[in-house]
Amino acid sequence: MHRTSALIVGGGPAGAATATVLARAGAMPVVIERSRGPHDPVCGGFLGWDAIAALGKLGLDPHSLGARPIHRLRLVAGRRIVEARLPHEAAGLSRRTLDAALLGLAEAAGASVLRGRTARAVSGNRVRLDGNEELAGDALFLATGKHELRGAERDIGDRPVSVGLRAALPGRAGLAMALDGTIELHLFDGGYCGLLLQEDGTANLCLSVARGRMSASGGPAALVRSLAREAPLLIDRIGDTLPGRWDAIAGVPYGWRAKTGEADRYRVGDQAAVIASLAGDGIAIALTSGMAAADSFLRGEADFQAGFARRAARPVRVAELLRHLAEHRFGRGPMMTLAAVPGVAATAARLTRIG
Ligand SMILES: Cc1cc2nc3c(=O)[nH]c(=O)nc-3n(C[C@H](O)[C@H](O)[C@H](O)COP(=O)(O)OP(=O)(O)OC[C@H]3O[C@@H](n4cnc5c(N)ncnc54)[C@H](O)[C@@H]3O)c2cc1C
Repeated sequence: MHRTSALIVGGGPAGAATATVLARAGAMPVVIERSRGPHDPVCGGFLGWDAIAALGKLGLDPHSLGARPIHRLRLVAGRRIVEARLPHEAAGLSRRTLDAALLGLAEAAGASVLRGRTARAVSGNRVRLDGNEELAGDALFLATGKHELRGAERDIGDRPVSVGLRAALPGRAGLAMALDGTIELHLFDGGYCGLLLQEDGTANLCLSVARGRMSASGGPAALVRSLAREAPLLIDRIGDTLPGRWDAIAGVPYGWRAKTGEADRYRVGDQAAVIASLAGDGIAIALTSGMAAADSFLRGEADFQAGFARRAARPVRVAELLRHLAEHRFGRGPMMTLAAVPGVAATAARLTRIG
C-alpha cells in the first residue's frame, strides 16, 4: 500500500486548490481524479468576484483563460424582467477550462495527479481505488464535490434534494448580444435556469430543479418544454432545437454544511458546504475551503471543519432564503419587486459571497 502525507480524493476546484497550497509548502500531495481529461461538470460557470480573487491568490487569472466579464444580473420571472448592476466584476468560464487549468497549477506545484482513477471506498484514512489498489494518507481531503464516496457519505438526513442539468447552446448572434456582460437567471416553480456566455462563444445553460418536479416531467427535454408558459424568454433563448446532450447530477443537498470534523479528515468544496447554486458561489467556496483546509493541515490546527462551517453559514443561509423565494410562486413576485429597488440585488449578491 502506497502512503503519502496528504491524499486528496477529487480534482475539481476544491481538490486542486488544496493540492496547490500543500504542494507549494512541500507536502507532496496525491490527487485521485476519476475523469481522464478535461470535462464539463454540471455547473453554471459563473465566477463571482470572490472566486476571481481566490483564483488570483493561487496565481490564476481567469481572463487569461478567456473568461467573459459579467457586470449585470438579469432576473426573469414569467414576463417580468429586473436588471441590476453587480457590485464588482464577475466572469463566465467553462468548467472544462477552469478545472483543467487548476489541476495544471497543482501539478506544476509538485502534486501528483492520478487521472482516470476512481476512489471506490474509504476506511479510516485508507482509500480503495478501482482495481482494488489501496492508498493511504496521514491526512485525507474529501473533495468529491457533488458525489458521495462509500464510507464517507455526507450526513444529509431527509433534506430535500435538487437535480442539476447542464447543456451548451450554440453561439448565435442574437443570444450573444442578449447575454453580453450578463448572468441571466430564469425563475420558475421548483427551480431556475442560468445562462451565460463562455470563452468559446457558446452559452452555458444550467438548470437546477427540485427532484419532484424533475421526476414528474420525465426528463430534461420534457422539463424544458413544460416551461413554455412559465419561462417564455428562456424558450426563446434556447431556440427551435433543444440540446441533444445533457449532463446531469441528482441529489444536490442545498444548504447542507459539515459542522463537525474528524481527526485527520478534511471535507472541502461541496463536501464542506453546499450553497444554493443560484447564488453562484460554489466555486468560491470550493477554492476558499481547499486553501483554508490546506493551511490548517500545514499549521497542525484541529477543527478546521467547524470553523469553516461557521464561515460559510451566512452565505449559505442567505442563498437558501433566496432560493425558497425564487422557487415558490408566492415568493417570486415580492422577490422581483424587491430586486428592482436600487441596491437590493447588489446587497443580496454581496451577502451570498464567502470571500
Ligand atoms: C445546477 C448547478 C449550477 C451551479 N452553478 C454554479 C455557478 O454558476 N457558479 C458557482 O460558483 N457554483 C455553481 N455551482 C456549484 C459548483 O458547481 C460546486 O459548488 C463546485 O463545483 C464544487 O467544487 P468541488 O471541487 O467541491 O466539486 P466538483 O466540482 O464536483 O469536483 C469534484 C471532482 O471530484 C471527482 N470525483 C468525484 N468522485 C470521485 C471519486 N470517487 N474518485 C475520484 N474522483 C472523483 C469529479 O470527477 C470532479 O472532478 C452549481 C451547482 C449546480 C448543482
